[in-house]
Amino acid sequence: MTTVLRTKFFLFSLLTLLLVQSMSATAGLTLTREESLWLDQHRDSIAVGVAVIPPYLSNYATGNRVEGLSMDYLQLMEAALGTKFQYQVFENYSAMMEAAKLRSIDVVFGVTNTEARSHFLNFTPVYSHLSNKIFTRKGKFKRAEMSDFAGKRFAVPQGTALVNYISNNYPDITLIQVRDLQEAFSLLAVGEVDGVGSYASAGYLYTVMEGIDNISIGGSVGFDYHISFGSRNDQPILSRLLEKALESVTVEQKNAIERRWVQPEDSQRVDMDTLIHGVIIAGFCLLLILLLMVVLWNRSLKREVNHRKEAQKEVSFLAYHDELTGAYNRQFMLETLAEYTRLPSSADQTTCVILLGLDNFSLINEFHGQKMGDYVLQRMSARLQSRLSCDAVLSRTGGDEFTALLRLSANRVSLSHLADRLIAEISLPIAYGDQSFALTATAGISLQQGEQEDPLRLLEQADLALHEAKKKNPGSHLFYASEMSVKLLENQQLHAALSEALTTEQFFLEYQPQVMLDSGKVIGFEALARWEHPVLGRVPPDKFIPLAEQNGLIVTLGDRVLLLACQQGNQWLNQGLEFERIAVNVSVKQFVEADFASKVLNALEQSGLPPEKLELEITESVFLGDRVLAKETMCKLTKLGICFSIDDFGTGFSSLLYLKELPVSKLKLDQGFIRSITQDHSSLQIVKASLQMGHALNMDVIAEGIEDRDEQQLLQDLHCEQGQGYLFSRPLNPRLITAELLLQIEETVVPVTEV
Ligand code: C2E
Ligand code: MG
Ligand code: MG
Repeated sequence: MTTVLRTKFFLFSLLTLLLVQSMSATAGLTLTREESLWLDQHRDSIAVGVAVIPPYLSNYATGNRVEGLSMDYLQLMEAALGTKFQYQVFENYSAMMEAAKLRSIDVVFGVTNTEARSHFLNFTPVYSHLSNKIFTRKGKFKRAEMSDFAGKRFAVPQGTALVNYISNNYPDITLIQVRDLQEAFSLLAVGEVDGVGSYASAGYLYTVMEGIDNISIGGSVGFDYHISFGSRNDQPILSRLLEKALESVTVEQKNAIERRWVQPEDSQRVDMDTLIHGVIIAGFCLLLILLLMVVLWNRSLKREVNHRKEAQKEVSFLAYHDELTGAYNRQFMLETLAEYTRLPSSADQTTCVILLGLDNFSLINEFHGQKMGDYVLQRMSARLQSRLSCDAVLSRTGGDEFTALLRLSANRVSLSHLADRLIAEISLPIAYGDQSFALTATAGISLQQGEQEDPLRLLEQADLALHEAKKKNPGSHLFYASEMSVKLLENQQLHAALSEALTTEQFFLEYQPQVMLDSGKVIGFEALARWEHPVLGRVPPDKFIPLAEQNGLIVTLGDRVLLLACQQGNQWLNQGLEFERIAVNVSVKQFVEADFASKVLNALEQSGLPPEKLELEITESVFLGDRVLAKETMCKLTKLGICFSIDDFGTGFSSLLYLKELPVSKLKLDQGFIRSITQDHSSLQIVKASLQMGHALNMDVIAEGIEDRDEQQLLQDLHCEQGQGYLFSRPLNPRLITAELLLQIEETVVPVTEV
């Protein structure tokens, strides 16, 4: 340590010592010499004024003795200062304040620091708070504010800080300064004043003491007492001593005092009536709200539970039912079928699938609208259900297909009867509004043969049987037979081969001449697609065309045929071959394509064939679709010179209406009618009628499939002008078609007509 530092430390220690010596500790208080001296001189002469400020600030205990919150503080302060205060008990607060003003007492308690009082008092820090309320007579005010008392009489104990506050802030209030709060409440109880300003606990006390029950708290005055000890301001040492003494009161001591006098907190002790009332009302309200909540919650819970139950019911219903008909759906059928096929199968009991397809159901939607279609499906479902035993599972497994799943004896005869009954039920006329019509249905049946049968296979078998029945004899039923599967397999293989064939050059065209029956003159050719598969060999069109129709490949195929035919036609023209038209078959799927007309124009342009040399063969099914669009396409192409013929006329949806409406120039009588025309009377009638119809509408009529001269003769007798068939020529490779060949054909025809 350096000398300078050591000197500084010494001086600091000396100063500290001097300071400590000048202060003397009085019962734990650190006092200055001056304070100690003053205290020594006044130790037992400090006069403390005490007024009675009930209920807890100060109140009479016994005789003239006063006790209360302030008294507890004063006693602790006495102890801290080591003094004995000389208490003077005043009748009321204002008397105490008067004495303080006159300095006849040195200390007062319970004072709020105001400007007026600071002229004669110094104040210690605040040691308690009193919240001032507005007391009114019950029912006078629901909620009172000080401004409500303008022009009214308002009582406050004289000499209190409240007097100054009200007179300064609410000059319109008629202030009634009373001796003490007891007087104030008595006046209020009898209506002498309209309001009283008082701290809440006093109000409670006086109303209880006086037996007053018509007073309640209406609001807050807006001015609270923050009370301190005051000491005469000509004795500043005294006020410092009081301050130090008050500061020496520990937090624990303060809490103990508060606990002893104030708790429960004064505002809670006030006006128990109001409080109890309030509590009762609040409790009642709370109870009501709770009850209401419980009821509402219970209700909404019930509703929610019901709602969920309903939703669950609906979900599980929809999961296994067809929404439209209410019958089971495919999912349920599959699950049940899987269950059934797991059961042992015997001659007495086995699993049976009857798949029912409504014939031409699409026509109902087409012609009568979806609503009618829905109605029919609902009716059919109900009818089938009524015909089935209750343990049969009826499901709607497709747009127009129903499946009946049964466990019964594998008796084919009784199953046959059942299938017929179901078909008959569907065939009964159905009425809708003022309309009535009938549908037919076809059925495919499959039976579980052995144990552990694959349920899906059973379905496939029923499906195959249905398709076969539809093809062979719509309106009847067929049991599944293994040949059907062979056919299916073939079809599947064929399908794969067909897709591939379109990418290669396996397709080509043959052309079948069309002749005038009277002269034998070849007037045109029908282009017919041919498929030469490297392994399968020649695949007939009646096999691959329906397949291509099914999978949409017909559009690509048809486009290719159209172009090839146009090219061939143009080539013949260039070679000088004379013919009227070259006919190309067009499938419905091709025709309904949006760009069909432009594809035709492209083919003509690309090939150079004049439009008036092209004939498009369409079938009647084209008119089941969008007839407006069909008409538009046909008119557009007809205007260019292209003509349309109806292929296989009489086998489809023959209607005079569309024949009249649409630009059709030729009818091609189906070879089915021609084949039997010489033996079958009805075929003859159909051909006759068709010829009449065609002629009446100014159309050409051509008979297809003429194989012998009798047929030719008969047709000529019926005034059929044109013919096509093996009698004249089979479809030929275009290379074989020459002017000579056409002459040969002409010659074969003429002798017959001449006979
Ligand atoms: P279709 O349009 O009615 O064609 C006539 C069918 O009758 C041809 O059968 C033809 O060979 C056959 N035929 C002609 N004269 C006789 C006869 O005197 N006796 C017998 N039994 N048959 C005769 P093909 O070539 O087998 O064609 C069958 C069907 O395939 C065609 O019937 C047509 O509907 C369809 N088809 C053929 N090529 C095409 C094509 O390029 N596009 C489309 N969409 N369909 C085609
Ligand atoms: Mg044809
Ligand atoms: Mg035909």
